Amino acid sequence: MKQLSAALWIIQLFLLHSLLAPHAANAKVPNPLNEYAMRTWTTAHGLPHNSVNAITQSSDGYLWLATWEGPVRYNGREFAVFDDIQITQMPEAGALDINVHPNTGEIIAAGPRGGVVFFNGQQWRPLQFGSGYAYETVVDALQRLWVATSAGVYRLDTSGKVDFFDVSKGLPENTTIRIALVSGANNQQQVWAGTRGGLAVFEPSTGHFAKVNELPTAQIREIRQLHDGRVAVSSDDGLFIQQSTGEFKPWPVAVKGPITAIVEGPEGCLWVGTFEYGVGRLCANQQEWLSVEQGLPNSHVLDIFRDRENNMWVSTHGGFAQFRAALFTSFTPHHGLKGAYARSVHVDNEGTIWVGTNDGLSYRKNGRFVGLDKEARLKALSVLSIASDDANRLYVGSYTEGVLQLQDGRITAQLNRDNGLMLNEIRVVKPIPGSDYVLVGTPNGLYVTEVRNGQFVIVKHFTSADGMASDFVHSLTLASNGDLWVSSTSTLTHFKTSNSRFDWKPEAVNLEEFTRARNIFSGINHQQRLWLATDQGVLTRDLSSGTWQWLGRQQGLPFEKVFTINFDTQANLWLGGSRGIIRVSAEQLEQWLSEEIKLVTHKLFSEADGMKSRQITTGGLASALDTEGHLWFASAVGAVRVDPSQYNTHKNSAPPPVIESVTHDYGVLEATAELPADNTRTAFNYVALGYQMPEQIEYQVRMYGYDSQWINREDNLTTEYTALPPGNYRFAVRTRYPGENWSQPTEFSFSKAAYFYQRPWFWFVFAIALIAFVGGLVHWRIRQLEKMRARLQAMVHKQTLELEQLALTDSLTGLANRRAFDQRLALEVKNSTRHQTPLSVGLLDLDYFKEINDRYLHAGGDIILTQVAKLIATNAREIDLVARWGGEEFAIIFPDTTQAQAAKILERIRLMVEQLEVPEVSEDARVTVSIGLVSSQSAMSSDAQQLLKLADRMLYQAKKGGRNRLSIYQADDISG
Ligand code: GH3
Ligand code: MG
Ligand code: MG
Repeated sequence: MKQLSAALWIIQLFLLHSLLAPHAANAKVPNPLNEYAMRTWTTAHGLPHNSVNAITQSSDGYLWLATWEGPVRYNGREFAVFDDIQITQMPEAGALDINVHPNTGEIIAAGPRGGVVFFNGQQWRPLQFGSGYAYETVVDALQRLWVATSAGVYRLDTSGKVDFFDVSKGLPENTTIRIALVSGANNQQQVWAGTRGGLAVFEPSTGHFAKVNELPTAQIREIRQLHDGRVAVSSDDGLFIQQSTGEFKPWPVAVKGPITAIVEGPEGCLWVGTFEYGVGRLCANQQEWLSVEQGLPNSHVLDIFRDRENNMWVSTHGGFAQFRAALFTSFTPHHGLKGAYARSVHVDNEGTIWVGTNDGLSYRKNGRFVGLDKEARLKALSVLSIASDDANRLYVGSYTEGVLQLQDGRITAQLNRDNGLMLNEIRVVKPIPGSDYVLVGTPNGLYVTEVRNGQFVIVKHFTSADGMASDFVHSLTLASNGDLWVSSTSTLTHFKTSNSRFDWKPEAVNLEEFTRARNIFSGINHQQRLWLATDQGVLTRDLSSGTWQWLGRQQGLPFEKVFTINFDTQANLWLGGSRGIIRVSAEQLEQWLSEEIKLVTHKLFSEADGMKSRQITTGGLASALDTEGHLWFASAVGAVRVDPSQYNTHKNSAPPPVIESVTHDYGVLEATAELPADNTRTAFNYVALGYQMPEQIEYQVRMYGYDSQWINREDNLTTEYTALPPGNYRFAVRTRYPGENWSQPTEFSFSKAAYFYQRPWFWFVFAIALIAFVGGLVHWRIRQLEKMRARLQAMVHKQTLELEQLALTDSLTGLANRRAFDQRLALEVKNSTRHQTPLSVGLLDLDYFKEINDRYLHAGGDIILTQVAKLIATNAREIDLVARWGGEEFAIIFPDTTQAQAAKILERIRLMVEQLEVPEVSEDARVTVSIGLVSSQSAMSSDAQQLLKLADRMLYQAKKGGRNRLSIYQADDISG
């Protein structure tokens, strides 16, 4: 059976390869549109308006958006909105178009009331073209600005001369919403205008536009020249493409509705936007559409833009979206998956991919996920485990429904509490290949079952009574030698095969002998080895020799908890945990296994690599290899797929950062400028204008002349220096995506001025004077000092003796003694008076201690006393002072503490003393304590003597009241 499936698999691979081969020769088969990593932004992310009319990228890398609130600059982390028309000098804040000047790099925004503004990064420069809408601008090779407006086309040349073109100059209609440059034959640049009545081309010889008569007289919505020179033009009558002969033909396949935007993607297909159907992609002979159902924020597309990293940006009326070709793809309910929190993935014998989530079961067929919910029991099934048998029947282990056997999407058998299980919770299910047995792992042991006539029959039930280390079954791993490995939450059991098949002898494995790992989440058999994913990395066992090896953090893994383990077809190791997916290459693994290396290198993948969530889950099993060689993982947001063969083609490289500003105490510092001598704070603000996953970009900075190495700044976009000495400096900052190489650094040179006393000549003169002065002084001083020394020695001797007597701790209990208490109380009384803070004092006296001494002798009494002291000390707070007040009496100072707060602590102490056991003295040795409490507030005094007097009075009251109690002073207390 195994060989047969292996053979089938090879045939499939071969077929697949031969199918793809002809394409591979010229173009890579593009990822389906809905398998790009898609991210969306709306006003909830800081966008000032959800309608982004146009997108462009400045030459330094910022994304610029034209919104109804004005031009917006996006650096990947935050939106800078230019909505103040005092500053932008636009007639109205809204912008319809945004563009980059090809020569100067200025941003050109166009909008209502004929407003067009230029922004050079510092200043805004306004222009006006008529009073209607300025829809689009373009700058030609002669640096002339062409503006499409509702009145016609304006042209501004470098001398400031403005020409105007309308129907009288050949435009088919005045309203022109598109203006585009097209390089024609002999690289001659042409200006094309898209009007409400069709397309026109400017003819320099006549100074007039001429209508393109081949195209219908309808509203033109987009003009885009492709890399092969052809021009795509969309109108309300359809999409047209210019042939190499120059003539226009309708796009070969009918396209839905009018096209609002056209951009050529990096894969050579046309990405198009529509009014009603979202975004589409037109490849040679195939079109795909993606709209709100698949996660697009809105179905009305306004613009599409391809950035310098080849990310595709689609703006809509409901925010904008980014499409990124990434190594990983997450499949979510937007792709047809039932439920988002995936716990198990499985590939059955026919190559169908199954995904179990907290909310149902789905399978992938013909590139689509379909939910399996024909039967009520399957509708919201919380799936924990999926497996299939030799006959390709599916087994699903669930949280609440037991095990289900499925055939053709129908339930054919069920095992739960009604027919033999103790609980309906199934952690893992696994049919044994080449047999009719199905293993069912539960919190109450391992069941060997068989399905006969549509009924699950329990053949055997293994529990700890049979030698398992624990009843709870968390994972099941079948080894190629027929052995079974069963894990629970903290143990591992080895089921050894004996002569008759499946007559296993469970034997607990002593994990302590070779690892600190305890929790084993899942396992796999690969190349004569058992591999286990654990809470401390990976455990592997050579099946022939029985030796274990342990790959944990010490051996180079980036984190400890590994939930799932798998291998790709090239024997590279892939691990999934809640902090992402790890790849260890086959060579590294081989070298580590043979002990050539102690540390393995790895690559860690996360959201930056296309996953919706890096968090891989712990189902049975949470990873699987499909027939195309892709690996699948169950994650907290959908099923994650990776094509390991694409590993080398997806390198996320972060661009060198831009230094946005350098600020100091008095303002902004220009490069190569000098900081004032008295400046204290210098802050550098920088950002990498990379948009693959900007939040994941890591930063390092280094101040040459100050730092000796690179300093990690993580995702911080500001670094501040507070005490730079005078000198010349070079600030450098560099970036990377996690685990990738660092970018080229971006640098900023400057200097800091010195005060006159920081200059060398000053110090030279000063030093000479100082030496002369000091020489005289030292001579005089030495004589003085010698005299003093003798006097001091005598004093020190005397004081040492005194200090020893006055030591501040009590030798029996280690607590502060009475003297320490008095000193501290005096201090706290002062603090309390000065800051008007409450101060509480408690006195504690052990009850009937004489009797304790009588019963357990003084030695026993001392032990009890010490234990009580320890208990009081550990239950008081760090700021409190606990002292042995004398004999079996203790005192506690509670600084800045109200009476009520102190009472709480003392009451807790009283209870703890009552419950204290001192078995060293006697099993029934018990002691209680009486406590008196007073605070500066209730005493209306901060006098130490007064506080102590009142506390003592309360203690007496506690004794009188029956002992083992807390008495608290009340202001109107007149007793005693
Ligand atoms: P109560 O306080 O409940 O009225 O009764 P009591 O038996 O505890 O009476 P009192 O506080 O007057 O007696 C204190 C006794 O504690 C006297 C002495 O035998 C004992 N004692 C004092 N200091 C120590 C000490 O350091 N070690 C031991 N073992 N006992 C001490
Ligand atoms: Mg006493
Ligand atoms: Mg006592």
